[in-house]
Amino acid sequence: MAGMSWDLMGHDWAVEMLQQHLVSGSLRHAYLFSGPRGVGRRSLALRFAQAINCPQPTAPGIPCGECRVCHQIENMQHADLNILQSEREGDTLKVEQVRELQHMLSLAPYEGGYRIALLLRFEEANDSAQNALLKTLEEPNPRVILLATADDSENLLPTITSRCELLRLRPMALEALALELQSRRQLDPERAQLIAHIAAGRPGYALRLAEDESLMAARSAYLEDCLKLTGFSRLERLVFAESLVKSRERAEAKGELRVELTYWLSFWRDVLLTSLGEAAPLANLDYRREIQRLADLTGSRKAAQIVGALEHSFARLNNANLQVMLDNLLLQWPLIRD
Ligand SMILES: [Zn+2]
Repeated sequence: MAGMSWDLMGHDWAVEMLQQHLVSGSLRHAYLFSGPRGVGRRSLALRFAQAINCPQPTAPGIPCGECRVCHQIENMQHADLNILQSEREGDTLKVEQVRELQHMLSLAPYEGGYRIALLLRFEEANDSAQNALLKTLEEPNPRVILLATADDSENLLPTITSRCELLRLRPMALEALALELQSRRQLDPERAQLIAHIAAGRPGYALRLAEDESLMAARSAYLEDCLKLTGFSRLERLVFAESLVKSRERAEAKGELRVELTYWLSFWRDVLLTSLGEAAPLANLDYRREIQRLADLTGSRKAAQIVGALEHSFARLNNANLQVMLDNLLLQWPLIRD
């Protein structure tokens, strides 16, 4: 099976297509891997980069995964792999960065293969950065291949997407992902189910959760905050918001809030689905009882209002006054006392 040969979870059709381009000598100049965060866009792009430049493929289009080149590409440290991304997630990718990359791409590849540019989270590029890249796409260098990832191709300029081979990556079915986690990572069935649900079928995200115990611990802490807050008075909520935002630099507080809001949103979506009696799978299976209780006490109208407010806050993280935003958000939550 094609997917097996690249040792990735999911996206078999995409692997097959990329192998086909490689083996038949019909590589495009630019590829765009789109899909939700954690779906495996970067892993697929890196495996493709290995397949393109591995000097000792085990079969046509299949990287060995063991040579120095494969290792260096996997670790994003190969001399012919140029990486472009914003400083940290949620920041803007600037035109100067694109210019620097273009300078690198004008150099011949060190090892005689292709020079590969990996542009991560390219939706964070502002319009002038995207326009600057256009020149590279319009006058492609035959020894250069661009691989870009983005959450949604709709968020990029059409002049960019129309010049890329677009691969839309989707989450896996939860059952299939849980089975993969069991066979590849030796997770017991219950834990595999839990992680597949938390990741909402996104294999990249699921792997990180399976491999890094601290991510699961952080998740629990965020969900405990979320539960605790529903029992807090107005004053206690404002104190909580202040402690989260005030003691930190803005960039750090924003990064923390981005993660915290992501988990709160997944929790309140579960509450909303449950209050509506929907059969859709819960993200947080291990909090089933707390979710049911909040759904009973809150009702679907209030739950929908909170989900809306969370989505709104999340979208405004870059521009809002974080303290004011968080105050407003938390004052809308219901007060539930035992
Ligand atoms: Zn190799």
